[in-house]
Amino acid sequence: MGIRNVGIVGAGTMGSGIAQVCAAAGFRVTLLDVSAEAVSKGVETVSRNLERLVVKEKLAAGDKATILERVSPTTSNGDLAASDLVIEAATENETLKQRILRDIDAIVSPTAIIATNTSSISVTRLAAVTGRAPQFIGMHFFNPVPVMALVELIRGLQTSDETLATARGFVEALGKTAVVARNSPGFAVNRILCPMINEAIFALHEGLASAEEIDAGMMLGCNHPIGPLALADLIGLDTMLSVMEVFYDGFKDPKYRPAPLLKEMVDAGFLGRKSGRGFFNYA
Ligand code: NAD
Repeated sequence: MGIRNVGIVGAGTMGSGIAQVCAAAGFRVTLLDVSAEAVSKGVETVSRNLERLVVKEKLAAGDKATILERVSPTTSNGDLAASDLVIEAATENETLKQRILRDIDAIVSPTAIIATNTSSISVTRLAAVTGRAPQFIGMHFFNPVPVMALVELIRGLQTSDETLATARGFVEALGKTAVVARNSPGFAVNRILCPMINEAIFALHEGLASAEEIDAGMMLGCNHPIGPLALADLIGLDTMLSVMEVFYDGFKDPKYRPAPLLKEMVDAGFLGRKSGRGFFNYA
């Protein structure tokens, strides 16, 4: 099927980034969040990111306006009705996602594809709450979305070949590269990445080295472009904790237990960049 209209549910870190790359690639975007405040925060993020490109002379001011015009903010599910593809990018919580996906399924046309940007939750299980499991897929973008070249496509057990092919074509139309992974907690990339970040938090908690030293060690010693603790702050510590909990529950293996310091940081409301404080300060 051809995709022209894209609905995005959740206008946070990921939803706003996905909205930006979709609109920049010429798709019409309906961006939905729970409150007018949350959705306008998402649109402001898109506007700010585009303005940065204008200042760097990577984008014409007129193109910024054209891209922004393609994004329609809303708080009403009904506005998703004309979407050919809806990408769910709401908070990493399975019960919440199930409720959202049931609502979307009831609203969009029977031919539309529904995708989830979940970092870790079973795509097979999320697909099963919709009445269109063959047209359901994991479409896992990376943060920051406008910068990162990869989209991991996750096949649930029910995902059809046609849905996978359409999703791959869509990812390529965004100028990104798709890798396909089988459904399993954390899929392929986060299965490797998140335990590494969790281990860095254990190392910090055990006093092996300071946050600065751990990050410098991984950047200079392993050639990582960003240290694991700064990356955790970028991902969001609440999201990191949810991902590790999904691994721990899914594999029943203690090697995936979330670092106690990660839990404590979330309890304190230190969520990383989005709250102004995580392992580093962003005030
Ligand atoms: P976020 O907290 O920045 O944004 C989540 C947004 O969802 C918020 O604006 C919230 O108001 C909104 N929301 C909550 N309930 C909603 C509802 N019922 N309807 C509409 N919107 C609702 O989180 P995020 O980092 O953008 O993560 C979103 C999803 O993307 C999660 O599943 C996460 O695991 C996944 N993800 C995150 C990253 C990352 O690095 N942050 C990377 C890849 C995937």
